[in-house]
Amino acid sequence: MSVAENIAREAGQDFIRDIVRADLASGQHKTVVTRFPPEPNGYLHIGHAKSICLNFGIAEEFDGHCNLRYDDTNPTKEDQEYIDAIERDVRWLGFDWGSHLYHASDYFEQLYAWAEELIRAGEAYIDDQSQEQMRATRGTLTEPGTNSPFRERSVEENLDLFRRMRAGEFPNGARVLRAKIDMTSGNINLRDPVLYRILHAEHPRTGKAWCIYPSYDFAHGQSDAIERITHSLCTLEFEDHRPLYNWLLDNLPVPSHPHQYEFARLNLTHTILSKRVLTELVRGGHVSGWDDPRMPTLAGLRRRGVPPAAIREFVKRIGVAKANSVVDAAMLDFAIREHLNKIAQRRMAVLRPLKVVIENYPEGKSEDLEAVNHPDDAAAGTRHIRFGREFYVERDDFMENPPKKFFRLSPGAEVRLRYAYFITCREVVKNGAGEVVELRCVYDPATKGGNAPDGRKVKATLHWVSARDSLPAEVRLYNPLFTRPDPDPGNFAAQVDPNALEVLADARVEPALAELKPGEAVQFERQGYFCLDPDSAAKRLVFNRTVGLRDTWAKVSVAKVAAGS
Ligand code: ATP
Ligand code: MG
Repeated sequence: MSVAENIAREAGQDFIRDIVRADLASGQHKTVVTRFPPEPNGYLHIGHAKSICLNFGIAEEFDGHCNLRYDDTNPTKEDQEYIDAIERDVRWLGFDWGSHLYHASDYFEQLYAWAEELIRAGEAYIDDQSQEQMRATRGTLTEPGTNSPFRERSVEENLDLFRRMRAGEFPNGARVLRAKIDMTSGNINLRDPVLYRILHAEHPRTGKAWCIYPSYDFAHGQSDAIERITHSLCTLEFEDHRPLYNWLLDNLPVPSHPHQYEFARLNLTHTILSKRVLTELVRGGHVSGWDDPRMPTLAGLRRRGVPPAAIREFVKRIGVAKANSVVDAAMLDFAIREHLNKIAQRRMAVLRPLKVVIENYPEGKSEDLEAVNHPDDAAAGTRHIRFGREFYVERDDFMENPPKKFFRLSPGAEVRLRYAYFITCREVVKNGAGEVVELRCVYDPATKGGNAPDGRKVKATLHWVSARDSLPAEVRLYNPLFTRPDPDPGNFAAQVDPNALEVLADARVEPALAELKPGEAVQFERQGYFCLDPDSAAKRLVFNRTVGLRDTWAKVSVAKVAAGS
């Protein structure tokens, strides 16, 4: 992305905002009305966040309003749980629809009346062909379709059949209402698209009132028109539906004629942004639920500790374009890290503890050392951490036979303990299996605070927690659900990384972390950003790693490029 593009974006410059701005300037519209139209058949994911930020964002920036509209035309897949989750997630992301909450099902009566009007105008007919027959006669991208044998039914017969469909006389799939457009159109969406189908199913809102339901195409544009949407923004796969969107608006006595504009959907590496796939991940038990922190759902991101502001910032940075692309998941991590770096207080936690005993530190003695809560924010203050003879360091910070560039603890090596002293490792204690279980060290009392009066330097500063005062904790580390950057939606189950969740059951954390509030972010020094998981209990803290401190993924890909692969 060039600098110019970046600056343009800061000012809210993208092709859709340009259109809105021009329409307001020319007087084409006096106010802007957008909508976010989820189908309540799953939880929202980060792709939806792009659409939410765009629709609600434009409404905010141009002083209009954005409707939250449920596209609830398929009662067999929709559920109240999803409706509740969608509202929670849109609010969490920072947007508010005020009084503008609507449902496509609010318009069922009106949509039905318009369908009858199309029939009366000779522009729609009842087709008795089966789904297979319709598919077979639809043609292909290169071959025209062929007319249905039922296409020339009289208006009277069509009206009669449509009313009997509504009255529940026919079983599911027996007939459909189709628009009479053009079976030879180059655009398959115009080859007599289905407007209504029979579905004997109870609807969460309309109950048993209906046994025929409008198709997406018949419901969507007309709902836009009823709500006087000015700019109907959708993703590129609907570009080919636009002629049908316009055909319906042109042929119906609708109160307004909105315009549909298409933008590129968000795709992210190492994940699949499709509600169908996410539903199957949940149902198949590949994850613990919709809010599993490995999920790209807003509920999952929230549980992982991602602040909504970081998502909004990410969406702003990726911008709105007309061409599809795949965004590197590392960009999302970068936005999260950048945001958390500013707001998260620092604490110490040892994820994989190794015990250290300071032989020349008096038994029973302890001292309170001062630690800063945020290096760039003095207002965040300081806290005390207790140092004593026994504490834990990170297993990874010790090597018995270190390679040349390893500057952390090893036999004979001296390091700094953060906020405390210089220590030198004297002896390695092993268990019967030959595993290192304890380090015996000595400390230099003259180095209190972490500096040597004689000016000698050490190359590593380690974090640590007191053996006696630290609290036990479980720490959950998350890696991408798919190791492949481009997981195949057709075969995703086999590609789920079984190691995407790593549970560290024996972590130790400083006592101040018991006071962390749900949803509050914290940096574990040298480890990354973490938050409390709702699974936490008074006696057992559970932390989720939101994101690591450095971009290990980027390093991997840079290394690959350097290696010429
Ligand atoms: P999915 O493809 O995940 O099943 P959907 O498009 O069926 O999603 P809807 O509930 O119909 O889900 O989507 C609501 C709105 O969100 C639509 O306007 C849709 O275009 C938009 N949207 C869905 N996925 C993305 C995405 N990945 N990027 C941007 N916008 C998206
Ligand atoms: Mg959809």
